[in-house]
Amino acid sequence: MKDSINPQDILKIFEKHGYITHYFANISDANSYFESAIRNKSVGAGGSVTIAQMGLLEILSKTNKIYSHGYSKDPSDIAKAATADVYLTSANAISATGEIVNIDGRGNRISATLNGPSEIYFICGTNKIEPDLPQALWRAKNIAAPKNAQRLRKKTPCAAKADKCYNCSSPDRICRATCIYTHPLTSAPAHIVLIDEPLGY
Ligand code: SF4
Repeated sequence: MKDSINPQDILKIFEKHGYITHYFANISDANSYFESAIRNKSVGAGGSVTIAQMGLLEILSKTNKIYSHGYSKDPSDIAKAATADVYLTSANAISATGEIVNIDGRGNRISATLNGPSEIYFICGTNKIEPDLPQALWRAKNIAAPKNAQRLRKKTPCAAKADKCYNCSSPDRICRATCIYTHPLTSAPAHIVLIDEPLGY
């Protein structure tokens, strides 16, 4: 995040676009919110590093049914997550102009955030903020994707050093669809949760 960008000002832009917004100074405050806001629901998630760093699924599993292949290691959770009451995800980048960018290889995260669950939460550390959409797209492609390719041990040119995108044609390529969310979909209310800490990639 650039120092000149105020996270709370950015959330006002997202509110204008129709998102429900939340700002938390740290993970602990965010987790307290989720613990009281989400109870007795089915909760879907993918393999988000941000959500894993928060320990959020462990907390929510006390009062909810969790469907996340990244958490359970059960591939059948992918389909169940797509129709859960609540879907939790992070983003590869968000812009100060009010857009969210996600790049998927499998497509489960993008598809679940477009249609299926009854409520969507995008949870992001302030490290995901870029000044505008072109720089958010650049971040998703040259920072988030290579680091994810490295984490997932993909055989791609970016995975070795996680330094930049090489626009590969590898069978292991994880960049297969890029979604730019300009506004919440009409299928479900969507929240932006901004946590003032670096989280995920
Ligand atoms: S297109 Fe290929 S090289 Fe570029 S980030 Fe995606 S997987 Fe890595």
